[in-house]
Amino acid sequence: MYCKGRLILTHIYDLIVVGGGLAGSSAARVASQKGLSVVVLEKEADIVSPPQCAEGVPSDKFNQLFRPDDKWVSSYINSGVLHGPDGNSIKVLYPSGGYILERTVFDRVVQEEARISGARMLFNCRVIDICKSGTDRIKVKYTDSGGGEGVLVGRFIIGADGASSIVGRRMGLIKGFKRDLYVCFQYKAYIEGIDRDDEIYFFVNPELLPYSYAWIFPKGDNLYNVGVATLFRLLKLKPKEILDCWLRELKLEVDIVEYLSGVVPVGRRNIYDGSRVLLVGDAASLANPLTGEGICNAINSGRWAGEAVYNFLLSGRKSDVNRYYIDKVNRNMLKPNRRLYMIRNWFYNLSEKEVERIVVLLKKAIDNRHFREINIMSILYNLILKHPGGVIRSFWR
Ligand SMILES: Cc1cc2nc3c(=O)[nH]c(=O)nc-3n(C[C@H](O)[C@H](O)[C@H](O)COP(=O)(O)OP(=O)(O)OC[C@H]3O[C@@H](n4cnc5c(N)ncnc54)[C@H](O)[C@@H]3O)c2cc1C
Repeated sequence: MYCKGRLILTHIYDLIVVGGGLAGSSAARVASQKGLSVVVLEKEADIVSPPQCAEGVPSDKFNQLFRPDDKWVSSYINSGVLHGPDGNSIKVLYPSGGYILERTVFDRVVQEEARISGARMLFNCRVIDICKSGTDRIKVKYTDSGGGEGVLVGRFIIGADGASSIVGRRMGLIKGFKRDLYVCFQYKAYIEGIDRDDEIYFFVNPELLPYSYAWIFPKGDNLYNVGVATLFRLLKLKPKEILDCWLRELKLEVDIVEYLSGVVPVGRRNIYDGSRVLLVGDAASLANPLTGEGICNAINSGRWAGEAVYNFLLSGRKSDVNRYYIDKVNRNMLKPNRRLYMIRNWFYNLSEKEVERIVVLLKKAIDNRHFREINIMSILYNLILKHPGGVIRSFWR
């Protein structure tokens, strides 16, 4: 292990952030603004491109983080439509309810904020190992694009390195991460025949989209993100095969510009080692387990973590990590996610007939109503009581 070797070290950072995505850059920005010395290690040479994302965010959450800017908003969303298996659909209105981002531009803005705040951004640096050194130091080993190796030492480390987080695995926080994640495949494509660019579309269909859901999000000028997310542990077909088959069924004329595949972890993980290592964003598996929506939680968790590290290093009290990070994440993300997790498991274990019936019942309850008037949780709980089959079946899978 490299930690046993002799090293001559010149600088000890207050905080090392692994991963320069939305969560990592947000953490780095807040910690640097507070005056900590921060370095971000990012394995890519630049922003991850194409972004592994459908780029949709709800405005109520997002507006608390950023003021939307035409430079990085592709479309403004006013309604959403859920299509069921037998042609039934439910439309929910939410005027100014969401945005489809241009993430290649937006992510750069977030990274730039971290840099301007004083964080040192090191690109082309892939972290390959991490170990604790004494009680108050952590060593991080990385390789650069030329194949060289380097070691940095910090007083705290934030793992913002996405789904397969090396920080989480090396520190024993993540075990068996493949158990609960969505695997996704998405095209960016020109599609004729969808007239609106202020509406998003979701599709559920146990036969055509097994253990999956599909989406079409508008990017403007007939360009769309069209993709599918499939639960990995129930995967029978590759997401690309599911998407291609479903697009053929829809009989849409699709002119593909680019494609991407990616994963969204949605299972439970430990997010704090009780000492000097925290996970944020996808590394902490904070995305919505029903929809895979993780942008706002990545940014928020990063910001809270940056603040928590600052307070911890100032006071030396672990309770500050709990107060500024763990409690907030539990209250605002993990607790609501637990309910969504249960609903998700119920839903994916329904038969096609049951899904059809549920779409019809939902249509009666919420079609063409304003999102803010709807208590979706209480409606879903009622549906679960009426259709408990999915819950029972979920225990057998
Ligand atoms: C197909 C798809 C569609 C999605 N659609 C939406 C959507 O519409 N709305 C939404 O809200 N969310 C969506 N998500 C989820 C959302 O993209 C993520 O939740 C969010 O980007 C997480 O940000 P993050 O910073 O935590 O992780 P990431 O964006 O994964 O960033 C991790 C960073 O760490 C770097 N890294 C990884 N390993 C190392 C290493 N060893 N050393 C150094 N650097 C490393 C990576 O290069 C990357 O830059 C989608 C995800 C997918 C896959």
